Parts: sequence; structure tokens; C-alpha cells
Amino acid sequence: MTTETLFRDDAYRRETPATVVFADARGVALDRTVFYPQGGGQPGDQGEIALEGGATIPIVNTIYDADRKTILHVPAADAALPAPGAGVVARIDWSRRYKRMRAHTALHLLSVALPYPVTGGSVGDAEGRLDFDCEATLDKAEVERRLNELIALDAPVGQRWIADEELDANPGLVKTMSVKPPRGTGRVRLVTIETLDVQPCGGTHVASTGEIGRASVTQIEKKGRINRRVRIVLSEQ
Ligand SMILES: [Zn+2]
Repeated sequence: MTTETLFRDDAYRRETPATVVFADARGVALDRTVFYPQGGGQPGDQGEIALEGGATIPIVNTIYDADRKTILHVPAADAALPAPGAGVVARIDWSRRYKRMRAHTALHLLSVALPYPVTGGSVGDAEGRLDFDCEATLDKAEVERRLNELIALDAPVGQRWIADEELDANPGLVKTMSVKPPRGTGRVRLVTIETLDVQPCGGTHVASTGEIGRASVTQIEKKGRINRRVRIVLSEQ
């Protein structure tokens, strides 16, 4: 089955009615969801699935099934599983997700502030890191200044879909050497930060860069001769 991914077109959607397709020890599959499944350096969402009658199932993680099309909502240990066909409401832990949306978008801007190939990265709750293929010595204060300048532009973040062939014809669009954009449906989502950045990405982003808030560069580590790991933390909002 293919779960309909509502978070791709609207990352701000916190809940949706849905129907249970199946539920087993691995997780609960719904026909549609607002839960982001772990991938591309971003953790899977937490939240709850509310049943008719008021009971709720705590969801501790969200992952793709082996087919990479079915999304599994991983329930807390010992949670009772819903029956196939049941109508439910899927609701994410919004405050956590929003911190990840801000951090994820900040990492796009970090890759603009530091225009080197990206070899890895990870998104956390209002914090994250990127690894760059870069031999230069980076100055923490200077990187932080550039990053906050970009955030302050309050540039709109949007998206458009292109065919796989168009991406293959423009390999320069892919900045991340380790994280390949999600393929297999014949089209790829490009995330655009107006006038600053375009790259294929399946993650969740804020609508404009001003929502990121103040960012601090907390550490720049040398991981080998040509690898620099840059960590950022966002201020509380
Ligand atoms: Zn992204």
C-alpha cells in the first residue's frame, strides 16, 4: 500500500482523520497521515492516534515499512492496537515537530552560508548538524553571522515537483552526497528558498526563514582532513 503523505504538501497540518489499514507489532498503517517518517537525517514524528470513543495510542516513532511506501506509526510498548477499518484521528506532537522544521530549514541555509558539498547531517529538536567536504578553516563567529543574515532575510520557502529526468539532467541541484532525494514515484520534490537555495528534499520546512529565529553555531569540528562538522542550536521562541 501507499500511505498518502499529507505532511509533504502542508507541513503545518497537525492532525488528520484517517482509516486504519493494518496494525501489528511493527506499527499502525493508516491510509493517510501527517506523521513524518524517519529519513533524510530527520527523526520520525511522535504523537498519538485517537480512537472513536476517546482512547489514544501513544506513537513513539514513525518509520517506512520495507516497501518504502507504507508509513508505520510505532506504538508505545503494550499499547492496544486498533482494528483494520477503524476511523481514527492521527495527531503529531506539534511543538517537537515545529522545532525540527525550524532546524531543518536552518540547515538548508547553513549549506548556503557554507557552499561546500554536504556529506552528512542530522536534524534534532531546535538543533542540528551538517558535515561538509571542506579543507578550509572555518571561523565559528563568521559562519554564525552569515547564517543569521540569511535567516533575517525572511525569505519564503516553497516547493515544486520535477520529473526524475529533469533532476538527472541537472545533477548540480543535489548538494548532499550521502542523502539521496527520495525516488521511485517518477518525480522529485524541490524545496526552494527564494533567491537563496534550491535542492531536492523530502523533509518538513517552515514557510519563511524568519520563523527559524536566532541560530548559534556551537561547534565546528575537524572530522578528518577534508571533513568539517558544523553544529547549530536555535534560540527558544
Ligand atoms: Zn529540506
